[in-house]
Amino acid sequence: MKARYSIFSLARNALNYHQDWRQAWRSPEPKSEYDVVIVGGGGHGLATAYYLAKEHGITNVAVVEKGWLGGGNTGRNTTIVRSNYLWDESAAIYEHSLKLWEGLSQELNFNVMFSQRGIMNLAHNQHELRELHRRINAIRLNGIDSEILNVEQIKAFCPILNCSPTARHPVLGASLQRRGGTARHDAVAWGYARGADSRGVDIIQNCEVTGFRISNGRVQGIETTKGYIGAKKVACVTAGHSGVMAGLAGFRLPIESHPLQALVSEPVKPVLDTVVMSPAVHVYVSQSDKGELVLGAGIDAYNSYAQTGSPLVVEHQLNALVELFPIFSRLRVLRQWAGIVDTCPDASPIIGKMPVEGLYFNCGWGTGGFKATPGSGWVMAYTVAQDRPHPLNAPFGLERFTSGYLIDEHGAAGVAH
Ligand SMILES: Cc1cc2nc3c(=O)[nH]c(=O)nc-3n(C[C@H](O)[C@H](O)[C@H](O)COP(=O)(O)OP(=O)(O)OC[C@H]3O[C@@H](n4cnc5c(N)ncnc54)[C@H](O)[C@@H]3O)c2cc1C
Repeated sequence: MKARYSIFSLARNALNYHQDWRQAWRSPEPKSEYDVVIVGGGGHGLATAYYLAKEHGITNVAVVEKGWLGGGNTGRNTTIVRSNYLWDESAAIYEHSLKLWEGLSQELNFNVMFSQRGIMNLAHNQHELRELHRRINAIRLNGIDSEILNVEQIKAFCPILNCSPTARHPVLGASLQRRGGTARHDAVAWGYARGADSRGVDIIQNCEVTGFRISNGRVQGIETTKGYIGAKKVACVTAGHSGVMAGLAGFRLPIESHPLQALVSEPVKPVLDTVVMSPAVHVYVSQSDKGELVLGAGIDAYNSYAQTGSPLVVEHQLNALVELFPIFSRLRVLRQWAGIVDTCPDASPIIGKMPVEGLYFNCGWGTGGFKATPGSGWVMAYTVAQDRPHPLNAPFGLERFTSGYLIDEHGAAGVAH
């Protein structure tokens, strides 16, 4: 066994294009029927499949993905993980998720490269600073770690940040969640895929769902590009395409789809060992293990399903970067892309039962759902298995848009992510 994974065997595999490597998950043809079909092979869909099998013993499950695993927002995001949200409902679900992150590599026996390097959120004026104080107090009342740093502490924590009082937007203070950080996005999808597959879940890629078969108000199965697949229950976890899927099922969701862009720089030596976010100049930055700076900004203002985005946002984002970090002024950008984020009017997700019996949706995570991946999959699995929400996701039902019990997380801890 040891010899199989020796350095020589790695070198040999590298030279023969990994021909002898075992597949990390199977690629079966779809069965005619499943107990549960999950639409969407992003992190949330795969986590749902994993926890359905592991926590609820439901293994006659398929994940149906129109492209490749993690090719949606899961593989396109800036991987910021934190739980310092304002409202009690959000704090509970994101903290549940963060606790799952803390043991995820061990749980999946797969390194998701979760790195608790801290998340710092800058305040550039007195109003922002007071707002941060208010948020930090609320967050701490929920038992979640969060603190305020003054300018001297910020300088010590992140020496390359421009803290000059003469900066156009001087840094006056910051909030810090030390347990926050980043994870490796595709490893999260792959880790959950391996875990689900090994428990019997069928993962079916390159299979687009084109319709739902519904009779007497109850879902019977899905129409796909690989034919009809029967299902007792269908869980739709399609992020930016959730509005489209709801349309196919005959109802509407209060969701808008927008492009959200990110970009990475050329790799450089380690210079930034935390995550810095600034709502005022509007950029958020971390450094990947490869050395690339990972940069995000705000959403493009228009609705679209195009995974590109407009240059205006990138220009603004780079201005903001150089303002905060003059040291990066001669860095070159390597790649840029966009994902399609699904935003709700209150910037909180929708997780629960839908107007069609046996149909469940998990969507609306918008610009900030990567951090929720484990927790979201965990509560979604419970909801599908029990046909009722878990107390953690009960406040995030579709009913809140008629009851008015909204959970307004706009500007959660500064910028959305
Ligand atoms: C640029 C960017 C930066 C971000 N930064 C952060 C961040 O720093 N921190 C954070 O917490 N969040 C961040 N987010 C948000 C985060 O990426 C998402 O909320 C999260 O990844 C959503 O995961 P998901 O599994 O629900 O969706 P996805 O990963 O998008 O998966 C949905 C899947 O459904 C599939 N699908 C769609 N329609 C169909 C169909 N008809 N049939 C079959 N399959 C279908 C898609 O192909 C896709 O693979 C960011 C997003 C973007 C775009």
